[in-house]
Amino acid sequence: MNMSRKNTQSESAISSHAAARFWRATLSRDARADGTFVLAVRSTHIYCRPSCPARRPLRRNVVFYRTREEAERQGFRPCRRCRPNEVASPVALVARASEYLAQSSEDGVRFSALAAKLGATPATLRRAFLQVTGLRPRELAEALRVARFKKMLRDGKSITDALYETGYGSPSRVYERSNAQLGMTPATYRKGGKGMKIGYTITKSSLGNILVAATERGISAVYLGDVDAKLVAELHEEYPRAEISVAGDSFERWVKEIVQRVEGNPPRIELPLDLQATAFQRRVWQELQRIPRGTTRTYTQVARALGDPKAVRAVARACATNPVSIVVPCHRVIRQDGNLAGYRWGLSRKEQLLRQERLAATPQKKAAQA
Ligand SMILES: [Zn+2]
Repeated sequence: MNMSRKNTQSESAISSHAAARFWRATLSRDARADGTFVLAVRSTHIYCRPSCPARRPLRRNVVFYRTREEAERQGFRPCRRCRPNEVASPVALVARASEYLAQSSEDGVRFSALAAKLGATPATLRRAFLQVTGLRPRELAEALRVARFKKMLRDGKSITDALYETGYGSPSRVYERSNAQLGMTPATYRKGGKGMKIGYTITKSSLGNILVAATERGISAVYLGDVDAKLVAELHEEYPRAEISVAGDSFERWVKEIVQRVEGNPPRIELPLDLQATAFQRRVWQELQRIPRGTTRTYTQVARALGDPKAVRAVARACATNPVSIVVPCHRVIRQDGNLAGYRWGLSRKEQLLRQERLAATPQKKAAQA
């Protein structure tokens, strides 16, 4: 089953054997294939994840790409339902589940039904929930039956906040088990970094030196600067009660990922976070992670997206206190008048980061790199 019209370079890199496999995954809406390819539909000019719940297109209208960047380079737009332009991850799956639950009018939602709606297998969804929220399926299914939980989602709370506030997942349960992006530590827990064992490493990048600090659960700090000693001093200030030492190469993968993101490249792996944060900070930082690379938002837009349009100043404060630059891309938030506003690590770095991301997101530059 080969494509009759091979009209793009990227397409030719996919063997007919792979294309057949991709089509099978597409037909079965196999969520396990998410992130391994996207399908672009010629008749609608949109591209989807394999698990997209939308109606299946005709095979002859479908082109496969290994990455969403390739699809976008060919002029396809991301589908609004499966949002293939967001990092394919358990986090994205849980976010979509949360959106679905908030909109659903039923009082109780069965777990398997929820998975089917999202085009995921129950096993995939279970794994995603366990990773992101730290909840086991039975605890989760119970939470799904609670009307109050659903109301919180409708009111714009994230699924982890809603679970936490309805009493599912004690801090220890949610935050000790979870090491995913949404699993951040509330302020009441481990204040000042008490009990945290943080290792740090300093490396070079086009923005100067980068300090990356992490516990075994996730990244706790990403700082930019020129003077190593200053960066280390800041780390001690941020986590005065933590045990801080120079790390071995235990989180080298994370450091590499951060450095390549600094150069404007798209995320390649998910970076787990281990932070202390208030519920509000957590919501802001999660929102910032949704801003696409190469674009910016204003503080007002972020506040509005959080359903709290008056919270502009609080949003600005949460951006200014973000301890994990790059990973939580607070540099993508600017003032309404286009002014870049401040940046904890210096305005010129913010400027350079935005410029690199914009360049990397434009087709010519990408094609040159590929
Ligand atoms: Zn779709």
